[in-house]
Amino acid sequence: MGEQPVNGQGDTGKEGGDRKFATRLIHFGGEIDKTTGASSVPIYQASTFHHHDIFNPPEYDYSRSGNPTRQALEDYIAQLEGGARGFAFSSGMSAISTACLLMSAGDHMIVTEDVYGGTYRLLTSILSRLGIEATFVDMTDFEAVKAARKDNTKAVFMETPSNPTLKITGIAEIAAWAKENELLTLLDNTFMTPYHQRPIEQGVDIVLHSATKFLGGHSDVLAGLAVAATDSLGRRLKQLQNGLGTVLGAQESWLLMRGMKTLQARMEHSERGARKLAEWLSEQPEISAVYYPGLADHPRREVHEKQSKGYGAVVSFDVGSGDRAKTLLSRVQLPLVAVSLGAVESILSYPAMMSHAAMPQQVRHERGITDGLLRYSVGLEDIDDLIADLEQALRS
Ligand SMILES: *Cc1c(COP(=O)(O)O)cnc(C)c1O
Repeated sequence: MGEQPVNGQGDTGKEGGDRKFATRLIHFGGEIDKTTGASSVPIYQASTFHHHDIFNPPEYDYSRSGNPTRQALEDYIAQLEGGARGFAFSSGMSAISTACLLMSAGDHMIVTEDVYGGTYRLLTSILSRLGIEATFVDMTDFEAVKAARKDNTKAVFMETPSNPTLKITGIAEIAAWAKENELLTLLDNTFMTPYHQRPIEQGVDIVLHSATKFLGGHSDVLAGLAVAATDSLGRRLKQLQNGLGTVLGAQESWLLMRGMKTLQARMEHSERGARKLAEWLSEQPEISAVYYPGLADHPRREVHEKQSKGYGAVVSFDVGSGDRAKTLLSRVQLPLVAVSLGAVESILSYPAMMSHAAMPQQVRHERGITDGLLRYSVGLEDIDDLIADLEQALRS
């Protein structure tokens, strides 16, 4: 697909005038401080705000309800995703759990089968206690999604590409069906970011992010973001964010904006590397499977290309056994061996023992998360060095 946007959505978004995405990343409205002209949003490290005039309450009155630094970030992500309102939370899970509390006791959600491990844990061990039910469905099968609907179904939670086997859900098809049936749609867009994929343009109601990953991009901040497509949904999310107190602090809000400015430059570089890595892995006899939506033999590549501008920077592959996975992890020299992804440094993780350790082994295996599966998040190093490092780890 070269460097061209597949469906034209990538660089031709009309929100923010006719400016392209790279320009909007830098000129987002909060790039110059209005009072001093400073070249970044000030960090308003204050919990409360003086009422100069008791008859006219100030715009900000208490930082849980609103903080100018956090507000700049919230407006920034809303604009990038093309939504009405944005919200910043203390982590990705904080954003996801807050949004899931739009549900009430007795409500049922349909959820992507290989959803992020933490979301799985939230649904199966916390929200389940509060009477919020979830059915996990392989969303590559639209008929299965429709069949999972019950009388009390209120929402559909998607994650595409899914983690870690990069399965693709057809966003527009499910969002349209959900709308017809008055179901709320939520989508975890962590892997793609708004640079590659803008779910609101496909009909999704709420976009969620672990901003800890690509948006922050430097493995130095834990944060979550949510964007509501409409003002009325935004008001409901605001009530939950304020009521639950799941807000992001001013320092982290600033640091996240600092990282987001380079999102496009980082994503482009890392994706180029990821494509090369996926192709190289496919040619290695030791590797039994490679998962990457950009590979010619990815079963849902065309669906992905309709809804995304690129394939992302995460490649998963199977080395065949747990022992081989552990040997490789002990021999690699460049990537961080860690939980997480989406950073300047490459990160190699072992889902069976890290992100998906909370999942029972049988469920894990059914979802293709075998003991030999590794997930490589390509950073900003030279890809040839990363491949040489993997090669020595596989062969030595
Ligand atoms: C990391 C991650 C989360 C959770 O985010 P935290 O910031 O760690 O709380 C949710 N979804 C996906 C896809 C993730 O990768």
